[in-house]
Amino acid sequence: MPLSAIDIRDGKPFENRILNEVQEFIADDGMESWTADQILRWSVRKFHPRLTISASFGAPEGMILIDMLHRIDPGTRVFVLDTGRLHPATYDLIDRVRDRYGKQVEVVFPDRQEVESMVREKGMNHFYESLENRKLCCRIRKVEPMRRHLAGFDAYVTGLRRDQNLNRADTKKITIDVASGGLVKLNPLADWTHERVLEYVGTHLVPINRLHREGYPSVGCEPCTRAVGVGDDPRSGRWWWENDDTKECGLHVQEEADGSGI
Ligand code: SF4
Repeated sequence: MPLSAIDIRDGKPFENRILNEVQEFIADDGMESWTADQILRWSVRKFHPRLTISASFGAPEGMILIDMLHRIDPGTRVFVLDTGRLHPATYDLIDRVRDRYGKQVEVVFPDRQEVESMVREKGMNHFYESLENRKLCCRIRKVEPMRRHLAGFDAYVTGLRRDQNLNRADTKKITIDVASGGLVKLNPLADWTHERVLEYVGTHLVPINRLHREGYPSVGCEPCTRAVGVGDDPRSGRWWWENDDTKECGLHVQEEADGSGI
């Protein structure tokens, strides 16, 4: 892990005290035994208000993080990438979260000129035609807007879990997002199971995407998501025309500078 990545954030150096703490956690896996609540409380103490939740509003994990962080500090921040191709149900959920928590969800859009140029050259639904086209679309509509938005933060929280798919099996609870310029990336739910997620949602009446009840375990962009059958891999409804090993949008794949997982 290139820890020096933290130092490359020109003009936004962490206090040495925090930098040392983060480095120690990464070096000795010291945060792996912490609960999600412990990690979130530590994160708020160290980074708020330069801390944000990355939530897709298409999976219950992000909604759980919003609920947990809201209980710790109602002023905690959350953003969503509006690719322009989301389901209406996802937009409804963003408004439900605003109403339920009184929270201003920070909606991040892609660069208008890049989207216009892409669809002019390739067409509206070019992502079905090749992996290259799909990754281009994810890069323009998701990866680049996320990097741009995260430039204003020191740390962000995701709902990644190890058992979501093979690409996430090695997810650590704290890491450095080198591709985003050295931000601290926190994955407090990394060791949660799907059952535990459902239990939290039920116990705390967390608002979730209504499409989950219609066979969509994971809701991404409308043209790239479909319902799955009972017992099917929960991620099989995302980019279903591709092989399993390509099914990430690049947001959570550090080595892929231009790639596409929400
Ligand atoms: S999920 Fe599909 S529509 Fe959304 S950004 Fe990626 S390729 Fe484009």
